[in-house]
Amino acid sequence: MSSAQGPSGPAERTAQGPGGPAERTAQGPRWPRVILKMSGEARASAASDETVDNGTVDRIATEIADARSQLGVEIGVVIGGGNIWRGAAGESEGMDRATSDHMGMLGTVINALALQDALERHGQPTRVQSAIEMAAVCEPYIRRRAIRHLEKGRVVVFAAGLGSPFFTTDTPAALRAAEIGAGAVLKGTAVDGVYTADPRLDPTATRILTLTFDDALRQDLRVMDLTAFTMCRENGIPVLVFDVMQAGNIVRAMAGEPVGTLVTR
Ligand code: UDP
Repeated sequence: MSSAQGPSGPAERTAQGPGGPAERTAQGPRWPRVILKMSGEARASAASDETVDNGTVDRIATEIADARSQLGVEIGVVIGGGNIWRGAAGESEGMDRATSDHMGMLGTVINALALQDALERHGQPTRVQSAIEMAAVCEPYIRRRAIRHLEKGRVVVFAAGLGSPFFTTDTPAALRAAEIGAGAVLKGTAVDGVYTADPRLDPTATRILTLTFDDALRQDLRVMDLTAFTMCRENGIPVLVFDVMQAGNIVRAMAGEPVGTLVTR
């Protein structure tokens, strides 16, 4: 059982497709293009009562901008909304699940706009694309346009999940990664990887550095939602689960330093 789910300048393109061998030059990124999945919980802060904690958003924006300028990695961000609303929570209080999930998806748009604002204050051009059309606020999700933005050095923040209820934002992270040819999904959470057991309950639990999708299934280790897990497994897209609350970890993860747990085929 498990624990933890738990440059400007064009990025150099390689022949590496999704899930291809993770290769890295001394200064380059481990994967030329990635999806960074940011949990909404990482947008709130234990030290703050704010739903969207601007200090945390600013720190994350700085790291994403640094990864762009230092490593040249092309970055798509799929943003969660758990700091604002979760569909399952509304359902447990008697709400219609689809309506509650629509509220959750709108929460992700709020987070996406906050991140865009912070990134652009740091000089990093950013586009928000939403799976639910809202033309006055941001672009609709258009795959080819998203790829073009990435090629031009813009960060693309994917908002509103899949646009459909009954999912979490892990699934759009996996789907967008497959659609845009990302080399990996970097799943930023509040835990530093996948453990042999729940470290809160078992003091002997240790962090696993690498494992295969099949091992994770066999050992019932929870890496991400099963729909997303299956999609990454079938498309050979590695998943790196890492602690995004640890300062500097976004750049480290994109540079290929040994943070978190890497799940591969
Ligand atoms: N959601 C949805 N469809 C999607 C993505 C998200 O209905 O494709 C809703 C769902 O209610 C979810 C909420 O949006 O609980 C917020 O997303 P998530 O729970 O993934 O946020 P995170 O845990 O990453 O903060």
